[in-house]
Amino acid sequence: MDKLILHNCFYLFQSFVEMYSGGRFNGFEGNYFLEREEGYKSKVFTEAQKCLNLSSWHKESIGTGYISECFKNAYKKKGNLIYYQDGGRTEKRINGNIKEAEAVLYDIYLGDNDAIAFEKAVSFFGAKYDLIAYMFFIKNKDTYLPIAPQRFEDAFETLGIDIKLQYNCSWNSYSAYLSIITEIKEEFEKYFSLEISLLDAHSFVWMVNEAKKHHITKEIWLEILQNDSLLKQNDIDILKSFYNAPNHTSTCSSMEEKTGIPVAVYNLAVGKAGNRIAKHLNFKTNYRENGKTRGWSVLFRGQYLQDNHFEWEIKPELAEALEQLHPELLLNQGNIERITKNAEIIANEYEADNEVEREISTVKFVTQSEFKQFVGVPREKPELVETKHGKRYKREKQRALNALNRAGYLCEYNKEHPTFLRKNANVNYTESHHLVPMAFQDCFPNATLDTESNIVSLCSNCHNQIHYGQGAEIIITELYNQRKDALKSEGIDISLEQLLTMYK
Ligand SMILES: [Zn+2]
Ligand SMILES: [Zn+2]
Repeated sequence: MDKLILHNCFYLFQSFVEMYSGGRFNGFEGNYFLEREEGYKSKVFTEAQKCLNLSSWHKESIGTGYISECFKNAYKKKGNLIYYQDGGRTEKRINGNIKEAEAVLYDIYLGDNDAIAFEKAVSFFGAKYDLIAYMFFIKNKDTYLPIAPQRFEDAFETLGIDIKLQYNCSWNSYSAYLSIITEIKEEFEKYFSLEISLLDAHSFVWMVNEAKKHHITKEIWLEILQNDSLLKQNDIDILKSFYNAPNHTSTCSSMEEKTGIPVAVYNLAVGKAGNRIAKHLNFKTNYRENGKTRGWSVLFRGQYLQDNHFEWEIKPELAEALEQLHPELLLNQGNIERITKNAEIIANEYEADNEVEREISTVKFVTQSEFKQFVGVPREKPELVETKHGKRYKREKQRALNALNRAGYLCEYNKEHPTFLRKNANVNYTESHHLVPMAFQDCFPNATLDTESNIVSLCSNCHNQIHYGQGAEIIITELYNQRKDALKSEGIDISLEQLLTMYK
């Protein structure tokens, strides 16, 4: 069993259930959607057990017609657990040889060897897998499960499990089927940290292909976001404002506080947009318990908070598609703070700065080929390389050299700042610094931060102050004002406020 495939399917299932139940998936019990779709199986079991009334069976009943009567009543409760409408044929077979039929049934329900009882049932009733699995299921739902050979074979294929069920009605096949679902149950419990029944695991497998069909991938979201008959500008603006909330999560009422747009407007717009998308994707109508349709859960995950406000979180695939189409979103406060608070990333930034310094200290400076102009257009995002300090975007030392050259080897915060001559070249010693730190490269998917317009020349003192000192914001503000237009022309569109947050 490939756990990666299985876990991915758990995720698809969770997302499917959450869309149709309008809340977080916290297990099968009490989930109104799962109970509506799958709850009937336990009911079938309970009712069939009542009809069987096994405690009233005796060996002497075999041949009297009593056992087959009980079974026929239990069979009638089958719901959709048996595919074909063969009630007539099964009954005919029982009526044709009541004594043998009842001996087979007695062995299934009260015998002591289930393997033999199964094979006897196959030879008496024929290789009707769903019928025989149903017979065992209503004996004990914690051990046995119903089967629909084709549907389960398809589901197992999705789960990366190779098992032949069609035209393979045998005890061996059935035992293999049961043990696979038992394994899935155990893995499901670990993945979600909750307990489920064997029948719940069966429901998961039963639904997995439906869940897959209902999964809206990033690619599908990209199309939807660009289809203005599905999402209008107003809807996109709403999505953007949720995107900008911490963890892309907010209640409508705190949105109202921020934007002044009333809660009802959010509810109406998002509900309608969700319904349009669901219709476009041919999803079955998503009904609430009260019979009204629910649209918001197509776009968001949601849950009630303790204060009874309802919280929405943009679905991850939708958030990714939004980022791709609107890269400026990546510069939101939440993203910047997440990176700033990651000590490892920031330590890596200083380390990378120093590495460039060390490299420069040994190269020959070619002062005659002076670099005067910035490139003026966005350049390609740099390569991500593995270093002993973790992953990092590659820096070209030539660009640092160009930037120092352009600055005339002076401190760009203040050209008067004292410096000294380099050992390896007859020029002033200054250090290159990436004004928008390279650690934020992911916020600029369509540009590189390793470009001369973003590299400033600083005296040692200013460079240390900008990284480690108080008052760094004065230096940053001055440098930002010098560079903001050049940065913008190279696809690095950033406000001073955003830049300052990066240094906090
Ligand atoms: Zn630096
Ligand atoms: Zn300086």
